[in-house]
Amino acid sequence: MYDLLLTGATVIDPSQSLSAIRDVAVTGDRIVEVAENIQGDTRRRIDLSGRILTPGFIDIHAHLYAGSTSWGIRADALCLATGVTTVVDAGSAGWANFWGFEENIAATSRTQILAFVHISGIGLTYGPLGELEDIRYACPERTAAIISAWPETCVGVKIRMGRFQLGDNGIAPLKLAVEAATATKTPIMAHLGPGIDLPEVLETLRPGDIITHCYHDKGDDIFGDGERILPAVWEARERGVLFDVGHGGGSFAFHIARKALAQDFTADVISTDLHCASLEDPVYSLPETASKLLNLGVPLDDVIRQCTTAPAESIQRGDEFGTLRTGTIADLAAFEVEQDGAFEFHDIRDERLVGSQNLRPVLTVRAGSVFDPDDLADERETDRLRSMRMKALGKGDIDTFLRG
Ligand SMILES: [Zn+2]
Repeated sequence: MYDLLLTGATVIDPSQSLSAIRDVAVTGDRIVEVAENIQGDTRRRIDLSGRILTPGFIDIHAHLYAGSTSWGIRADALCLATGVTTVVDAGSAGWANFWGFEENIAATSRTQILAFVHISGIGLTYGPLGELEDIRYACPERTAAIISAWPETCVGVKIRMGRFQLGDNGIAPLKLAVEAATATKTPIMAHLGPGIDLPEVLETLRPGDIITHCYHDKGDDIFGDGERILPAVWEARERGVLFDVGHGGGSFAFHIARKALAQDFTADVISTDLHCASLEDPVYSLPETASKLLNLGVPLDDVIRQCTTAPAESIQRGDEFGTLRTGTIADLAAFEVEQDGAFEFHDIRDERLVGSQNLRPVLTVRAGSVFDPDDLADERETDRLRSMRMKALGKGDIDTFLRG
């Protein structure tokens, strides 16, 4: 007897190079079978004919420390309404405030919440001031100790590389992040912003480290403000450094993405950088961000890989999720791929993109539990209003900060 049988969808599982009509059977919190026309008794059957069914989406860059940081939002209902089963907080907490994040945010959420721990001990508590302007906030030993103490939640080390965050400290804080990440055998996620020496940053990163905000246009971008992608970017990719979208309120410009795609440079991973000042507008959700890439010309199967298998592997969890292999956790997402509308999307420069395709979330399965977007609408609205209140409080300061 299965607990749940999802039938008739086009199953796209990049981890198994699968893109075909299949049924998926779930018992408890595990995927137990993926095959054509699964027979057998089931407690619940859901017909997904005409839909796509994928591993649950994984967003490796968001800010979820609501109530303790100027950026944080509550995103549990948003994630479960939009196919996202795992979301990684990108450095909202440093060693000094991680415990509160673990107990109050990660442990109380239905979505799986993981974290990059900020190399600055205060994390991203206070948006208007750079967290590493004073390098005494950076502490590799304590950062590594936190990651080792909560290995289920902590996936790596966060740092923001931009003049606004670092003051005059240059490359030195990144070297401290490398110490913490090397000690814990985890990747670094490095934010790219203006006022840094990008080739020097890339050379300092190790294979498996992640650059986020790869399509930003605030200066010192992947084009070095010129027309061709910098050789240092190609060299870093060649060595295994990964590139992540990290949309956010200031970091995804369509003109940069178009230019990059035209030169055959595609982000490895798609993520939102959701926080109170990016949620509305322009980010909204991970499938909305993915739809932008789809309409910029990235093929559907690639977009799905960049939201599932690729982010799971980037945080060294590809064996656990981001896959529909039998025996793994039953985290799944179903979407209708709307094909012939006129869908309007915005980037951080308020450029309009009107595209014909849209990924509309229809169902999320998290650890075997089924979530319908309609049932989460009230909770989402409450969370949204609170986020807008924090955004209003930060007005002015946050606008300045997004430029950095
Ligand atoms: Zn961020």
